[in-house]
Amino acid sequence: MTALSPQLKQATPVLAERGEGVHLFGADGRRYLDFTAGIGVTSTGHCHPVVVRAAQHQVGTLIHGQYTTVMHRPLLELTDRLGEVLPSGLDSLFYVNSGSEAVEAAVRLARHATGRQNIVAFHGGFHGRTMGAGALTTSSTKFRAGIGPMMPGVAIAPFPTAFRHGWPQEQAVDFALDELDYLLATVCAPEDTAAFIVEPVLGEGGYVPADTRFLRGLRERADRYGILLVLDEVQTGVGRTGRFWGHEHFATETRLPDILITAKGLASGFPLSAIAAPSALMANARPGSQGGTYGGNAVACAAALATLDVIREEKLVANAAEQGARLLAGLRSTAGAHPAIGDVRGLGLMCASEFTDPDGRPDPATAARVQQEASARGLLLLTCGALGNTVRMIPPLIVTAEQVDEALTLWSEAVTAATSGSNTRLDDR
Ligand code: PMP
Repeated sequence: MTALSPQLKQATPVLAERGEGVHLFGADGRRYLDFTAGIGVTSTGHCHPVVVRAAQHQVGTLIHGQYTTVMHRPLLELTDRLGEVLPSGLDSLFYVNSGSEAVEAAVRLARHATGRQNIVAFHGGFHGRTMGAGALTTSSTKFRAGIGPMMPGVAIAPFPTAFRHGWPQEQAVDFALDELDYLLATVCAPEDTAAFIVEPVLGEGGYVPADTRFLRGLRERADRYGILLVLDEVQTGVGRTGRFWGHEHFATETRLPDILITAKGLASGFPLSAIAAPSALMANARPGSQGGTYGGNAVACAAALATLDVIREEKLVANAAEQGARLLAGLRSTAGAHPAIGDVRGLGLMCASEFTDPDGRPDPATAARVQQEASARGLLLLTCGALGNTVRMIPPLIVTAEQVDEALTLWSEAVTAATSGSNTRLDDR
């Protein structure tokens, strides 16, 4: 008998038969509130009828048209449409299939454009599991252990994580920028450094929003030394944080990214990712040096076009801001009643609660119990953070106030059950 590789470890025991909106329907006959959204992929919800219709139409028209051989309309139309939402100046796009591949493409572009090798990534960042993107990933050693040596030419600088240090935010930002300067003075000569790569909100690393002063500090140093600033918006982009791009929360008068990476929510679950850059910068990309067989697939592009339509028509970015604020306030109120929750953080519909023990140390066991208790009650959640002690909520952008409230009720029950010792036995479900 064949079996799935043990590395395909499931966070919950649900066998999903069908998805509709914010719900998944399991083979067990139960309905689940999906506050994982496939790690943010199902932006418009499961099987949004507009996305389904667009994909079905495209499947009957042209499924594959590799854009290095022939061009196809969905790719051209998507490029026009993305132009309406991308930061001004980022007027050239290149498509691949996954977040990791887009990160690889961004690294190659940065190295080609600058003729320099070093890439500075930030501690706790997640950029993917391929060997290049994996070298930039430090959200947990599980993505690195036993597979090295990783891609050389990578240095890791601190990301401001105030809660982890027990510092005020200002101090965490000062520390991160000082350490970056020290790194550039001691390890990574600026003239050998091609790019900084950073997430506007640390995703897999524990849902820690960046900071205006920190990102502005990166921009200033990038300008000073001719280093490119790459923003990985794979998780934060396409409305997730209540702005179209996560970095807009921290935008200054100048444009922040030189290269922006988008994936996940872009095509509502179809594999599609892209890098965007000014055309003068993109001109340095060497043809054939990046990309792959399925990049910019016609069906995925049609689904992305429909996704952008739905986001605009249903005002989902504003909804993410509104429901995100409601969710965060509810999580804060639960935290007030539960000392096991050390911190609550978030931006838009990217919210999380961090579990700590009575001494303030990370408590992954409680976080795992909360996740199980929530799933036993029909609420699907994921953990994150270096030690897995943070439980995140990342529902589809279509989530309603009633669904947020329902999730918060289940959340509060799950936290009570997981921290009171009267845990639901897994086989009681
Ligand atoms: N960057 C970020 C910020 C991510 O969150 C992820 C996926 N969790 C990736 C890159 C990698 O994307 P993919 O899994 O599609 O390769």
